[in-house]
Amino acid sequence: MTASPPNSALDYDAIIIGAGLSGMYQLHRLRELGLRVRVFEAGTDVGGTWYWNRYPGARFDSESYSYGFSFSKELLAEWEWSEHFAGQPETLRYCQFVADKLDLRRDIQFRSRVAAAIYQEDTRSWRISLEDGSEPTCRFLVTAIGPLSTPTLPRIEGRDSFQGQAFHTARWPKEPVDFAGKRVAVIGTGATGIQTIQTIASEVGHLTVFQRTANWAAPLHNAKIDAEMQAKIKAGYPEIFARCQETFACFIHTPDPRGAFEVSDEEREAHYEKLYGERGFGIWQGNFRDILIDRKANATISDFIARKIRERVRDPKVAEKLIPKSHGFGTRRLPLETFYYEAYNRDNVELVDIAETPIERITPKGIKTSEKEYEFDIIIYATGFDAITGSFDKIDFRGAGGVKLRDKWKSGPETYLGLMVEGFPNMIMVMGPHTALGNIPRSIEYSVDWVTGLIRFARDNGLTRLEATPEGVKDWTEHVKALGEGLLSNEVDSWMTGINRNVEGKDTRIVARYSGSAPAYRARCDEVAAKGYSELALS
Ligand code: NAP
Repeated sequence: MTASPPNSALDYDAIIIGAGLSGMYQLHRLRELGLRVRVFEAGTDVGGTWYWNRYPGARFDSESYSYGFSFSKELLAEWEWSEHFAGQPETLRYCQFVADKLDLRRDIQFRSRVAAAIYQEDTRSWRISLEDGSEPTCRFLVTAIGPLSTPTLPRIEGRDSFQGQAFHTARWPKEPVDFAGKRVAVIGTGATGIQTIQTIASEVGHLTVFQRTANWAAPLHNAKIDAEMQAKIKAGYPEIFARCQETFACFIHTPDPRGAFEVSDEEREAHYEKLYGERGFGIWQGNFRDILIDRKANATISDFIARKIRERVRDPKVAEKLIPKSHGFGTRRLPLETFYYEAYNRDNVELVDIAETPIERITPKGIKTSEKEYEFDIIIYATGFDAITGSFDKIDFRGAGGVKLRDKWKSGPETYLGLMVEGFPNMIMVMGPHTALGNIPRSIEYSVDWVTGLIRFARDNGLTRLEATPEGVKDWTEHVKALGEGLLSNEVDSWMTGINRNVEGKDTRIVARYSGSAPAYRARCDEVAAKGYSELALS
């Protein structure tokens, strides 16, 4: 039995946009329901983030074994991660392995960018416009377009005039880039810039880093996984994933129940020292419970990390430039690093603080700041993404009555559970705005299962129109906004607060992210399902 009504000839029961982890798993689940499903993907293979972000040094910063899909014992048994934090090539291979094992590619159309998606009220269906001019139709439209998938370039005059090579990190070429002896610029010092800089510093002739805002970073402490550890991981998967289900953001780390001032100064220092020496996000996600909400508590960890930066960077002036002054530790998404600070001790690496000497223009030969012109062979833009809503803005989504999603979300997204939008019937978002992100594959698995449950319910009950109600959207949007109150991260400009000055109109902070706990998010969504989705308008 399919979800198509007898009087219509829709091409598919469901179309999924994107073949990253969300789209891959959603395809698998909907196929299990016996539906006719098609995925449209702009790239030439699966993997999403791990397909596009091939920049040097790209790797996980959540533990590999907490990141892979947990739903299939077979996948877990067959795949072996080689490092605690796998690099991009390995993660892309993992995505390809999953696609092979589940035979996903036969239902994925690659090189197919979706330009528009228009809701047709008469047939209760969606018509998708692909850039090649074809227009497939479906009952259900699942967006799996990723929160960080629309890269943005700086709006700097003369950008196209540069005569050397220029790359955005998220559009990195498949062929290797030769850095030997080259004069290289990196613009941007977020998680991506940091991974790139620490990796290429020893390969390039000379590296100039253009930093506008310093970011806090802490050591990753990556290591190979040996045979003994491998066996332990495989035997421990049930516990690892059970733990991820319990923690705030689905990482294996969870906050220390103590406040930063409930211990002595010595104990606090020892705690920070211990976390600084441990792998992964523990120092961010497993720290005292109040460091991300209490300014004074936050100052204690910020001071600790600042001391570490001063210890690790030889030139005190450079160290001071690398210590953030505009925000506290962890109030932006924390980059994890491997000898990043030590890169600045090399003779071939220079840090330019463009808050002091702004970039005036890109020239045919390089970059001109207010101080001087720098000449380069390669410019790397590690300048981030039009996050969360950016990928929605790029597609012309039109709901009932021709309403444009772009217009509806002009002042920020409004959603029901981060999954649906009023006026956009039968469209469901996986990892859209207002949903729990955290350790992404864990959140993806939950959301995809929820979406699958909803579509199964529609099929079993002969429903052809599912829509969020105005009250449902109002309540969820207000709830998400309330959750953000008091968080230091919501007082800071970053992609997490919707700021990207490289994009017209993205210079005002919004609440685009659900910042409550993942267990609370799941409980709320489970409750909706248990009540037969009665909060939705169903017909
Ligand atoms: P990002 O955090 O948004 O950083 C962008 C950087 O570019 C910032 O330093 C920004 O400076 C700078 N920049 C942007 N426009 C500029 C301009 N016009 N002139 C000068 N500098 C400019 O982006 P990202 O580093 O790509 O990271 C985004 C997110 O992706 C991360 O937070 C993380 O969630 C994810 N990520 C994950 C991993 C991983 O799992 N290992 C790795 C990389 C990224 P300002 O701060 O002044 O705006």
